[in-house]
Order: sequence, then C-alpha cells, then structure tokens
Amino acid sequence: MHIFKGISQIFFPNICFCCENVLTNQEKVICTYCLHNLPVTNYTLTKDTSVLKVFYGRVAIENATALLFYQKKGIVQNLIHHLKYRNQQKIGTFIGNWLGAEMKESNQFNEIDYIIPVPLHSKRLKERGYNQVTKFGKQLADVLEVPYLENVLSRKKANKTQTNKGRMDRWNNVIELFYLENVLLFENKHILLIDDIITTGATIEACCNELNKTKNIKVSIAVMAIS
Ligand SMILES: [Zn+2]
Repeated sequence: MHIFKGISQIFFPNICFCCENVLTNQEKVICTYCLHNLPVTNYTLTKDTSVLKVFYGRVAIENATALLFYQKKGIVQNLIHHLKYRNQQKIGTFIGNWLGAEMKESNQFNEIDYIIPVPLHSKRLKERGYNQVTKFGKQLADVLEVPYLENVLSRKKANKTQTNKGRMDRWNNVIELFYLENVLLFENKHILLIDDIITTGATIEACCNELNKTKNIKVSIAVMAIS
C-alpha cells in the first residue's frame, strides 16, 4: 500500500490547490506557505458583521460569516477553481472543517437546526457531477453536530451567466428561481444556508425570499469566501 502510494506520488504528485507546487508528505490540500498567506476574514472570531451588511435592507438574516476574501487572480480563486471545475472536493471538506471549528468556538451559531446548500441547477449538477458546496456543508454539519439536508430547496431553471452584468441584471436573472418543496419543514427552525462565494448576494437573497414563505423561519449564512 505504502509502496503504491509512493509510486503514484511520483507520477501524480499531490499539489497545493492554491499555488500548484508539489506538497510534502506532511502537507494536505494547501502548502504551508499558502496556508499562512490565505486572506482569512476572521469574521467569525471577531464577530464582524460585514457579510450581514451585504443584505441590509434586502432580506432579514440572523447571522452571516465567510472564511476567506475572494480576489480575482488570487490564491483563493485558484482554490475555488479546483473545487468547482477539477473535482477536488476535499477542498470543501478542508474549508468546512476550518470554518466549522471557528463557528463552534465563537458560540454564535449554536441555535442552528439544519444546514442546507444553495442548490445547483439539475443540468449543471449533471455536467459537473457534484454540487461544489456539498462536502463543505457535510463537514460543517459534522463539526456543528446538526443535520445536513440536500434537495429540500431546489432550482427551477438555470440562471444565465452572471459575468459582465450589472448588479440589477444579475438580480433579475436569479429572482424567483428557487423552490421550497415543503414550507412546513422549517417552521420555527433556524437554517444555515451555505454557498461557495458571495459576490452581490443576489443568489442568497433569492433563496431567502423563498425560505421566508415558511412561518417563523430564521436564516443564517455561511460561505467559503466573500468577494
Ligand atoms: Zn501553495
């Protein structure tokens, strides 16, 4: 087993998903250098409300956090790219474990009843084979010791590509695209809605508008990165 692992390392070395340098045996997912240079927000531990502010005046959210800052051409973009397009789902587990530990330590997310993902459209799910936030959500659920529910909230149709569009256009593209199968399931419950990146917040806002059809629901947000 060890010999085989050694041989496969020569031909398919494990690389850092941020800088793509070869990892040492002790390093996992991200090299030590990148790990120390990741732009972490520290939002959870410092009780910073910057993510919440994205939604002020738009939709009511209890609490919200993000682990990393997302910048074009930065190492976080590389990381998310490997997760989303290169089937490197262990990145989701890695980030979920990290953010989950911070959320638990902060005691700000103790009231969560269920964790649910922003759903991927079935066509995209078929193309990609997985929702890039599934492993992230499952790991968060593990650490926070609450159930992870997929397929409760679903998408009606694919939104058009969101690049090169103004905020209003993007908002119009994703409005009314989500559908909650059972509006009674989350009655009096506190839901943690998760996604990979918050850019304008339009997708999460549209999800919340649908979730809010449930009586006495509370929604909090956790994402891997905020741009
Ligand atoms: Zn690296």
